[in-house]
Amino acid sequence: MQRNQWKAASAQLLKHWSRSGISQVPNTTAESQAKAVSWLESHASFVFEASDPAIHGANVDGLSNSQVTPPITANWVAEPSSQRQTVPIAPQSVTESSLERFAEPNPSVIPSSAPRPTTPIAAMQPGVVGVWNSKSLPILEREVAFDELNAQVVECRKCEEIVCRRQRTVFGVGALNARVVMFGEAPGADEDRLGEPFVGAAGQLLDKILVASGLKRPEVYILNSLKCRPPNNRTPAEAEIENCRPFFEAQLETIQPEYIVCWGAVAVRAVLGSTDSVGRLRGRFHSYRGAKVLVTYHPSYLLRTPDAKKLTWEDMKMLMKDMGLPIPGKS
Ligand code: SF4
Repeated sequence: MQRNQWKAASAQLLKHWSRSGISQVPNTTAESQAKAVSWLESHASFVFEASDPAIHGANVDGLSNSQVTPPITANWVAEPSSQRQTVPIAPQSVTESSLERFAEPNPSVIPSSAPRPTTPIAAMQPGVVGVWNSKSLPILEREVAFDELNAQVVECRKCEEIVCRRQRTVFGVGALNARVVMFGEAPGADEDRLGEPFVGAAGQLLDKILVASGLKRPEVYILNSLKCRPPNNRTPAEAEIENCRPFFEAQLETIQPEYIVCWGAVAVRAVLGSTDSVGRLRGRFHSYRGAKVLVTYHPSYLLRTPDAKKLTWEDMKMLMKDMGLPIPGKS
């Protein structure tokens, strides 16, 4: 493997891990990448498979085979621990209980030791009931699958009225090993411009709700039922949701989250296939394949109807309880 290939592969690996939500890796700045690549070059055994003759038989930029020590153990310590830059895993410290918390971010994250869900499947309401169709993929294969899927989305022109007006497609963002998927409606003007879901005013409210709930945006996965903005932010048509269904279903199948939160009626229609109102469906878990589905109001609706925030907060507390996260105000 040539030196430039080595560097490109290492940088790609770092980027994939970071995008996949793996916390114990250096931030992928140019500086930290350079440090990590330098470390990798001096610890060449990291990337060599003893069983891969194509690689094992090669010299690497001056390293003879005898200097390369197979087999690999891919324990990632690119820098001495004292210098390592990591995403901190902080203990929960949520104490407030009112909806005002949405306006006062309180940094906290999902503890890795959080108990697993407690609501029995039998208690759920019917949606698409069952289990995931395929077995769970390793994180790097999920990255590859999403890259390929995103390339298809960028080329997609199924919805004629939409494609001639869209600026960018909005694939989704977040951790590919997320426990929770946030499922929204369709991109708005800001999302269409930036190519990322929930970045406008509604997105800022979603961020506050997540923080108040002990979640962080990079730890969940966020996507919409449509990848493109409908003209004038109109409600997506049934046919458009069906056009986009293969994309969002493939994303859900790849992530295989424990929970899906449907934000608003369009998300409910896409995930549960129901035209019932959010008011009728919220307050209990439904199911989609292997995931528990929670229904609540879209942040845009909450901005227009602040009184509904307390209902969404009740829904989020239900989610937190089931996930084993601390609920503010309860010791
Ligand atoms: S909304 Fe979905 S199906 Fe329609 S053009 Fe965009 S990517 Fe294709």
